Amino acid sequence: MKIVGVETVQLAEYGNNLWVRIHTDEGAIGIGETFRNPISTIAYIHETCAPFLLGKDPTQRQYLSAMISKGIGNHFNGFPTRSVEIRGNSAIDIALWDLCGKSLGKPLYELLGGRITKDIRIYNTCAGGGYNNKVRHGYNTQLISRDDPRPDDFNEDDDLLMQVYEPASLAESLLVQNINAMKIWPFDVIALQTRGMEISGADIAKAIWPIEQIRKAVGDRIDILVEYHGLWKLPAAIEIARALRDYNIYWHEEPIWMQNFDDIKRYKEHASGFVTGSENLGSLQWYREVFQRGAIDVANFDVIWVGGITEAQKIAHLAEAYDRVIAPHDCTGPVTLLVNAHLLTAQPNGLIAETVRSHLGGFYREVVTDLPEIVNGRLTPTTAPGIGADLLPDVLTRSDLNRKVTGQVAD
Ligand SMILES: [Mg+2]
Repeated sequence: MKIVGVETVQLAEYGNNLWVRIHTDEGAIGIGETFRNPISTIAYIHETCAPFLLGKDPTQRQYLSAMISKGIGNHFNGFPTRSVEIRGNSAIDIALWDLCGKSLGKPLYELLGGRITKDIRIYNTCAGGGYNNKVRHGYNTQLISRDDPRPDDFNEDDDLLMQVYEPASLAESLLVQNINAMKIWPFDVIALQTRGMEISGADIAKAIWPIEQIRKAVGDRIDILVEYHGLWKLPAAIEIARALRDYNIYWHEEPIWMQNFDDIKRYKEHASGFVTGSENLGSLQWYREVFQRGAIDVANFDVIWVGGITEAQKIAHLAEAYDRVIAPHDCTGPVTLLVNAHLLTAQPNGLIAETVRSHLGGFYREVVTDLPEIVNGRLTPTTAPGIGADLLPDVLTRSDLNRKVTGQVAD
């Protein structure tokens, strides 16, 4: 089997997402995905990776992934950094794994060693339907304060607006679906006002309000995960951690910019609940350092930003060596979720899967043929070969399609 074509697919409507399809001379197609900086990533894939991949055997994925990420011997692509190149490499790596599964007729979890558990618990990231879809400049999170009037389009199906204005009803609506873990980011709006340098007692009280409302309404029946998007400086982050000690917080995600390992460790000494990192900075080497220092509890790498399944599996094994757990990130795209379901159920240290119910009920279904099933708050991987899904045929005929091909494609 040989690679004959490398294709990138982007839709303006979901502009941050980029899908990569790798075509072979046997007609099989593998798909991968990445997120953010799509135009630069398209250029990188066609300029640098595709000419190298054409004619190669896609089953040699260790070799191919190592070559595009680090180069072996001849420094194939120089010194790749952690942005555009690693996004492109991640999408290609996932497509290679998908191709291998499809050519062997086995689901991805079989390639990863078989399932340890048939399904995995999920949490809901309380984002709205259009959250992060579009390419934008600057800070990407839509930030609303409860001090602002409710927007005209307020509705109970928008989990982002609900976490700001009606957190108790939001928690109740999740429990009705047997989803008993939710992620919210009530401190972000204040971090942007003070650039994360300080937080007043009044602002702490304001940010804790949704957490109090949730606890009042449903007690400890739901786990609360607090996301900080790396916006705080250490002293303010520690103040927040102390203020949250009595609220039984399940995890604190990226409270500070996760670059300084000693600071993460100092933060952890003050926090009650897991400390989680880092979808942004985490590489195999980052995790080795952070695990060595005992600075985090949960690894939430994103398979489409960390180098793909090849790198994610290494991090999962490294976490095992340190008796730590994984909870891969997905507020990004459907391929990521498909892969996470396979990875989490095939790992002894798979803790919990991130899901966004507004994406799952919305745009994910407009892009791929299949998705993992969620029943009673648990995620089950697809059983078809490879990652278990393809792009829907309609995607390639849409008017907002940006498609580029190097080599040949079947359709
Ligand atoms: Mg995060």
